[in-house]
Amino acid sequence: MLTKMLKKLWVNNLINLFYPNVCQSCGNALNQQEEVICISCELRLPKTGFHMHDENPVSRVFWGRINIKAATSFLFFSKQGKVQNLIHQLKYRRQKDVGVELGRLFGIELQKSPFYKDIDFIIPVPLHPKKLRKRGYNQSLVIAEGLKESMGVDVFTGLQRKIHSSTQTKKTRYERWENVKDIFKIENPEELENKSILLIDDVLTTGATLEACATVLSDVPNISISIATLAYAHN
Ligand SMILES: [Zn+2]
Repeated sequence: MLTKMLKKLWVNNLINLFYPNVCQSCGNALNQQEEVICISCELRLPKTGFHMHDENPVSRVFWGRINIKAATSFLFFSKQGKVQNLIHQLKYRRQKDVGVELGRLFGIELQKSPFYKDIDFIIPVPLHPKKLRKRGYNQSLVIAEGLKESMGVDVFTGLQRKIHSSTQTKKTRYERWENVKDIFKIENPEELENKSILLIDDVLTTGATLEACATVLSDVPNISISIATLAYAHN
């Protein structure tokens, strides 16, 4: 009995050594009920609450640019903050679990809103194949998988990139827009006819990429487009 217990303990310690169960936000050990992010960090997530309002700072980003039904972001993004760290874990540290978990938590919030009740498909903003090869996964798709879990809505992966856009950082907003507007295409667009879709991205900054995706999607007959991002970088 004792040897069996010791053996189990040893195996668990060994697993923890290679796959330490620590909170991806604060680094403290997780208890058995916690996954990815500890309860304490989860409760302190800087939620925007924008999803409960038809008009909010995120929907205003798209005013006069594209016709969308609703738009929101889950969390406030601030430099050197907890949310930046979590998104860094997701994008550059191969911590896909962080994206799935935050997507799942976001979906629970969206379910409480009257504006995201009739969604037929979740559509992640596609990553360029080159970046996809480098990173190994599309972080927006990972977030979408989490949303799917809590919202019970399928993910549509037919929105794709055509060509690589060069570095965006030193360009003006207009130049960036010129650059992104022709880079997306939809495979099997007929599947989206008469549907309500939720376009997903990680962080909202200028909204240029989301605008480009939404513009392409808006060619589908009778489509209704909403936008949701994990974080909102306010200026
Ligand atoms: Zn924590």
